[in-house]
Amino acid sequence: MIAAEELIQRKRDGEELASEEIAELVLGYARDTVPDYQMAAFCMAVYFRGLSPRETYALTDAMIASGETLDLAGALGRKVVDTHSTGGVGDKTTLAVAPIVAACGVPMAKMSGRGLGHTGGTLDKLESIPGFRVELSTRELVAQVREIGLAIVGQTAELVPADLKLYALRDVTATVDQLSLIAASVMSKKLAAGAQAIVLDVKVGSGAFMKTLDDARRLAETMLSLGRDAGREVVCLLTDMDQPLGAAVGNALEIQEALETVCGQGPPDLTELVLDGCARLLALSDLGIDVAEGRARAEAAVADGTAHAVWNRWLEAQGGTADPAALERAPFVREVIAARAGTVEHLDALGVGVAALRLGAGRRVKTDVIDHAVGVVCRVKRGGVVAAGDVLAEVHARREEPARAAVDEVAAAYMIGDGPPDHRPVLLEVID
Ligand code: URA
Repeated sequence: MIAAEELIQRKRDGEELASEEIAELVLGYARDTVPDYQMAAFCMAVYFRGLSPRETYALTDAMIASGETLDLAGALGRKVVDTHSTGGVGDKTTLAVAPIVAACGVPMAKMSGRGLGHTGGTLDKLESIPGFRVELSTRELVAQVREIGLAIVGQTAELVPADLKLYALRDVTATVDQLSLIAASVMSKKLAAGAQAIVLDVKVGSGAFMKTLDDARRLAETMLSLGRDAGREVVCLLTDMDQPLGAAVGNALEIQEALETVCGQGPPDLTELVLDGCARLLALSDLGIDVAEGRARAEAAVADGTAHAVWNRWLEAQGGTADPAALERAPFVREVIAARAGTVEHLDALGVGVAALRLGAGRRVKTDVIDHAVGVVCRVKRGGVVAAGDVLAEVHARREEPARAAVDEVAAAYMIGDGPPDHRPVLLEVID
């Protein structure tokens, strides 16, 4: 047995570790024989020294080996597709993609995570639906997917337990935004959950962990090769997270917007990303169609109401109420007003995400309790032309005082200038 401090020291000094050494450290951490403080020091050494491709592969493998793996394809008798986002502000894509893909006849059994820091999590959003259960056993998950084609659940403690521990540790030790650690975290979960084809949404910009296109490309390529080495088909979408996705940021507000998108009334950027994601998932599925046909079928499922019908059946199957009127609303809604006329040149995703977090929409520490009703609705996005006095955004708050603070924070996230509208698309690049 190798001492953890020796591995930390060798990584700190820039050495490449052997696969068995990484496996021993990670499995030791998952089994509580390596303490948090040593793993935190190791993560920080990785943050500064990085991991080689071989080390990243070994880390992913060890994380998968820390728990059980699922064979959903075997259980469902179908090719299983999956999707994952690296996390952002207002990112409710999965919530709309899943029922549309299911409505097109492709089963979706998705394990999602919680939000930490300024990025939201699909599970927290779903829990704003009264009664909705995110904890299903594997048997319940498979039965529900067989019956209605769709389930979204929390990652069980048996699946990649090393990631459950490590992600929480990274979040409080400033080691989340490291390429190899993100790649291993995402891909270990995807590979262990058994999907044969995976669409990854790699966010890039101020509200994402990857701030530049170059870093996002490197992360995408790392995840692609981890997937391909494991015999899976992977497509990476590099998407804009310089501004929030859609209008709503905050759990119940995002559920409402995801429903509007499933019904064909979502904001343009979210709708585009959702339909593109659906098209690519359908093209990777066992339907035997291409991306253009996938897009046409996704659009049809939205237009003819079948996606909405799946949404309703899904929420009810997991114990939730499908009536959006049951979503909790915040008692204080305050407007953010444009101080001058001009074009919105920049709407800082991080600024809006942090304002929503401070209102109570997210957790600063793991034990924080989320307020599902609060958040921000950005009525005007980048490229929007406004007059002085126009409403830019709404703040939804529990009390007057945090509402006032959030109004100032959201106002500071808007940069209004005299330049021409910037119509950067939400989908920046596709890597496959
Ligand atoms: N999403 C994950 O699942 N893991 C990370 O490390 C970052 C984003």
